[in-house]
Amino acid sequence: MDFNNKKLTRTTTFIHYVISFLLAIFLIGMANRIIWDIDGVEQRPYVTDFEIHTDVKKYRVLRQSIRDSILSIQDEKENVQLSVDLVQNALEEQQASFKTWISTRTATQSSQVNVEIQHRNRLLDSLRTSLKTEKAEILLLQARIEGFLAEERTYEEAIDKEISEARKLYVKAERAYDLHIFISRLLFVIPVLLLGIWLLLKKRKHSYWPLFRGVVFFAFYAFFIGLVPYLPSYGGYVRYAIGILLSVLLGIYAIKHLKAFVKRKKEELQLSSVERSKQIKNEVAEKALENHMCPSCGKDYLINEIFQSGKRKNRSGTLRVTTYCRHCGLQLFKNCTTCDTKNYAHLPHCYSCGDTLINT
Ligand SMILES: [Zn+2]
Ligand SMILES: [Zn+2]
Repeated sequence: MDFNNKKLTRTTTFIHYVISFLLAIFLIGMANRIIWDIDGVEQRPYVTDFEIHTDVKKYRVLRQSIRDSILSIQDEKENVQLSVDLVQNALEEQQASFKTWISTRTATQSSQVNVEIQHRNRLLDSLRTSLKTEKAEILLLQARIEGFLAEERTYEEAIDKEISEARKLYVKAERAYDLHIFISRLLFVIPVLLLGIWLLLKKRKHSYWPLFRGVVFFAFYAFFIGLVPYLPSYGGYVRYAIGILLSVLLGIYAIKHLKAFVKRKKEELQLSSVERSKQIKNEVAEKALENHMCPSCGKDYLINEIFQSGKRKNRSGTLRVTTYCRHCGLQLFKNCTTCDTKNYAHLPHCYSCGDTLINT
């Protein structure tokens, strides 16, 4: 592999991130294991656990016996209906045969004929009577079914009421369970989160920062994934309050640091250009040269000979570098003391002869 500075920087950054993520992943795995064990200590409640504290079982048994009765009466009713159909058929047949017989009988009435008529009429009467009795029985059975259905409905209502009682108990127990899990997780996560924040604020310049960053990733994972879903959600107040608190703290920190950074930059610009040029680090100088920026104030140092403006430099005209920054007065280019070649003033060696460029 060639010694390519940019590539090396990129590779180093990549490897550092891989280290951070790897550490974070294993820490997360370990923490999940621990949290899982913590959660396992207590059983999550279920609605059915609370039905034993109510009369729901008793009502269910009663309802079942009512349902059984309804089924057996329905069977009975079906049997009677079947018999009604049979009697109805027999009656119709008898009526039809009587009609035929009476139309074909001879004009002279014999006593035998009268006996036959009486016999047939008795038969028809008895069929009609039993039809009437059976129909009345069906009505009676139907009325009993209606009565049982009404009773079943009252038990249904009672069961619903008992279940809603059980639900109330369950919701209370679930809330207590969530709170308990939340507190035990909190005791585990808060120290981790504090460690993460401390590392993030204080150790970014440390040479083991990639490892510390892994801990930071883990801390935020533990807080947002492991803890936030278990925050007691009393109308979302706690959740939003913690969100607001975190945003405010983060905001204050960021604003303070940005302000301090701008102030430091401004103070730097107050120093003499010689002082400033001494403070410019090599990597900053290199990046600034790449982007034709002044390494101290960050503004473009290229000028367009026609427009005298950096903004329209792509239009036409020749671009030229300025020896001094037009914005802050820092010296950008100078001649080598050995070979007199014009050089960028903030890198250590002359590109033409290799001699040291002395910062004056
Ligand atoms: Zn400048
Ligand atoms: Zn030189």
